[in-house]
Amino acid sequence: MSRKALIAANWKMNGTKALIEAVNNVLAEIDTEAELLICPPATLLPFFPPSNKVALGGQDVSAAVSGAYTGQLSASLLKEAGATYSLIGHSERRQYQFETDALIAEKVVTAVTAGLTPVLCVGETLQERQQEKTQQVIAKQLAAVYASHPELLVKSVIAYEPIWAIGTGESATPEQAQETHAFIRDVLQSYDNVAAQQVRILYGGSVNAENSAALFTQPDIDGALVGGASLKPDEFAQICLNYQTSAKE
Ligand code: PEP
Repeated sequence: MSRKALIAANWKMNGTKALIEAVNNVLAEIDTEAELLICPPATLLPFFPPSNKVALGGQDVSAAVSGAYTGQLSASLLKEAGATYSLIGHSERRQYQFETDALIAEKVVTAVTAGLTPVLCVGETLQERQQEKTQQVIAKQLAAVYASHPELLVKSVIAYEPIWAIGTGESATPEQAQETHAFIRDVLQSYDNVAAQQVRILYGGSVNAENSAALFTQPDIDGALVGGASLKPDEFAQICLNYQTSAKE
């Protein structure tokens, strides 16, 4: 089963109009096999020129459709600002905003209903990995969404982001990442066998120009979610170029 790769940038609480211009200029020059997605701070979304090469996404979306939710952004607001995707359940939101699996599941439902593609982020802490609980943790995070809504899987992207690898400079090895990606696909099969083969599973956690090509050779790694390195236009472009279907193992 060949899946169109997706390379996504998570700018987190960084970025300027000048960065938009620099990234667009660099990406306009490259020919990559992957689809490209940038998730900037939502305030920057309207400053991206229309593009059929780079899709835009939010970094979060409200579980509510509209109403008195000061500070939140609904799926329709994000869409109006140009987003077609949204990250959901990023570990920084789980940790700092105390987002629960139940809330994250609601957000996925709201996003899909509004026509946004959710990029559902899952992953374990270092302690959970050391205690050999990686699979248990991830199965629970996936079940929270897809056990009751298996029909949403075909409309989703999954990002495996081991928390110990995010922003630490210590990426999972290609083998470690592949093992968990294959596990994720197995779990997803129990919800929708066909969709599980189609769904893109991105790896995130200290992806850079040096380590990305080896990660992308793995059969179940369908792209990347890139934080820090996505703020450097040339490096992000190199990561995008490093995705080559012909190099898949
Ligand atoms: C992220 O925040 O989603 C991420 C993967 O960050 P970094 O690439 O900086 O580890």
